[in-house]
Amino acid sequence: MTFQFEAHPKRSLEKLAPYEALPSGVDLPRGDLVVMNANESPYGPSPRALEGALGALKGGVNRYPDPSARDLTGALSAHWGVEEDRILVDNGLDGVITLLGITFLEEGDQVLHGEVTFSVYKSLAMRLGAVSVPVPMGDRWELDLEGFLQRIADRTRLVFVCNPNNPTGTLVSHRRMEEFMSLVPRRVLVVSDEAYGDFAGDDLPRTLELMERYPNLIMMRTFSKAYGLAGLRVGYLIAHPSVVMAMRRAKEPYGVNAVALGAALGALEDREHLRRTVEALLEGRRFLEEGLERLKVPFVRSHANFVFMPLGDRAGDVFRGLVARGVLVRLFDSLGAIRVSVGTPKENLAFLKALSEVICDE
Ligand SMILES: *Cc1c(COP(=O)(O)O)cnc(C)c1O
Repeated sequence: MTFQFEAHPKRSLEKLAPYEALPSGVDLPRGDLVVMNANESPYGPSPRALEGALGALKGGVNRYPDPSARDLTGALSAHWGVEEDRILVDNGLDGVITLLGITFLEEGDQVLHGEVTFSVYKSLAMRLGAVSVPVPMGDRWELDLEGFLQRIADRTRLVFVCNPNNPTGTLVSHRRMEEFMSLVPRRVLVVSDEAYGDFAGDDLPRTLELMERYPNLIMMRTFSKAYGLAGLRVGYLIAHPSVVMAMRRAKEPYGVNAVALGAALGALEDREHLRRTVEALLEGRRFLEEGLERLKVPFVRSHANFVFMPLGDRAGDVFRGLVARGVLVRLFDSLGAIRVSVGTPKENLAFLKALSEVICDE
């Protein structure tokens, strides 16, 4: 028996499409694909992370995980030199962002973010009945903090500064972040999303130092990118204890599973693996950027593990040409741009080779 039924979600979801990593209508070719579309580490996690995951699996998955993630929080506290009551771990940084919204956003509150930035900030606002306020980018695809300041209003509650910015790879300097914080009202929470902070080196703002003067500043980090654990979903924030305390009230009790907690703990211990990964990916980034210069393909100089190429009208064709040659990058169709994640030397070479063929065919 069949009968007609249609679910009616809340109105704020009406304009929100399900998240798709691939543009619709793309047929992936058979065989091995060079995957350079999601800014993951091609080198994977430390063996210590895998040991930690396995230990947790064998240690008894019949039991619930520690709801306050005490071991990982303790290790992060030692790692960053901040008190444990300033740290909150959850199910991926996406989970942390959702929890931040659930904790602080009332219906109709405004969420400020760059126009070309991590898409989850906008979807967060839409999921929770808040209002997403995109701020136009500067003329070099950077976040325009002046523009952010101009748009702060009575209902502004959260401001997302993605630093380095995904997908453009640009960086806000310490000096500019400091000036920005000095002008933002304290009732507004400012998030420095540093998912790619490990790749920015000494150019990254000293966020923890700024937090001593600006308690409304929040730093976010994830194990998904440089640590190579995207599949296990662990992210965290460091904030004022009152922010963390408020979020604990709104939190799901068991947001992070035991295997992910074990893996993150192991990953954090292996600083050498992180150092080698970052070094190799920065070397790969240089190689990609030099290749793009040689091919005369426009790109934005990156502070992260990916490179953004504003190609205008040809972006879609270039994307499809790359896919046809077995290389998957990220297409931003409405912007006319693609983004390639830094891969292994072999993958970087495969990308440049495919790209040069696609361009010659044009
Ligand atoms: C990948 C990414 C995240 C999400 O990380 P997860 O921990 O995998 O959820 C958050 N912010 C930015 C800018 C990202 O690119």
